[in-house]
Amino acid sequence: QAKREGKNTYRFYSETIKSKTPTSLEMETKLHKALERNEFILHYQPQIDLQSGKIYGIEALIRWNHPHLGFISPAEFIPLAEETGLIVPIGEWVLHTACKQTMKWQEKGFPPLVVSVNLSARQFYQPNLVEMVCEVLKETKLNPAYLELEITESVTMDVGRSIKILSDLKKLGVKISIDDFGTGYSSLAYLKKFPIDKLKIDQSFVRDCLKDASDATIVQTIISMAKNLHLRVIAEGVETQEQLLFLQEQLCHDAQGYFISKPLVFEDLEKMFPKIENTLAKYGISEQRND
Ligand code: C2E
Ligand code: MG
Ligand code: MG
Ligand code: MG
Repeated sequence: QAKREGKNTYRFYSETIKSKTPTSLEMETKLHKALERNEFILHYQPQIDLQSGKIYGIEALIRWNHPHLGFISPAEFIPLAEETGLIVPIGEWVLHTACKQTMKWQEKGFPPLVVSVNLSARQFYQPNLVEMVCEVLKETKLNPAYLELEITESVTMDVGRSIKILSDLKKLGVKISIDDFGTGYSSLAYLKKFPIDKLKIDQSFVRDCLKDASDATIVQTIISMAKNLHLRVIAEGVETQEQLLFLQEQLCHDAQGYFISKPLVFEDLEKMFPKIENTLAKYGISEQRND
């Protein structure tokens, strides 16, 4: 009796769920069509230099707006895209669009920005990755010095292969950063072997850096580690003025987060640009400091 009841309960439960959320197969089908149906858009989140208070870069973040399902977060569909391999064409679209729009920005005569593009593991290990990046740079005419590729620590686990790919990418003249730094397994000895330019301190450490002494220590340690390795360091997920001032005090180079700006559609970047820098100046972020 209990068993039957359990079964019924389960069936009821699964039917309820099914009617509300699409199965991963349905999502997969929708994801397949999303590119050709133009359902993706990029948002750009400004990154500032904490010493000058100026915006020097933007991170491209993909958004999926499905006509019926509405907004679907990348945290949800990127893993599915990875699993199915759809990340390859989607990732290429992201890179192409980000480079094209950044080029458009430079052509309008604004101070040049570096655009950061996230690469997932599957994309990183595509045999033609370097060729593809090279091709996109050629097509969009973006100077490679203005492109940064973000990888995660997990990608560097295959040490030999990843060093080779990174060196080939560096030869193109692009920059490399390690995203979500501190959540993986990199050690100092290990890191120095990689031809990288920047560490991005994971937002989980930044979030509580004023409340939790060990998070503050982790943030400080990553900053000094980066500097010892002659890498640039940026803190992600800065949500308050206090966090920003703490990072500035710790001589962190750069910062990114909702306090500075949410990710913006390309058209809004232009409007928001002076506003963001003026706001930062009010907080004293634009004062010159000796490093
Ligand atoms: P990520 O690369 O670490 O990007 C940072 C995430 O933190 C973004 O979430 C951003 O909107 C969010 N964020 C920025 N500032 C703050 C803040 O102050 N507070 C909080 N709580 N969050 C903040 P988003 O856009 O939802 O992206 C999530 C993840 O999805 C990204 O993490 C990245 O791993 C992946 N992703 C996004 N776009 C792409 C893409 O084009 N390609 C690939 N392969 N992955 C992508
Ligand atoms: Mg990122
Ligand atoms: Mg991150
Ligand atoms: Mg991430």
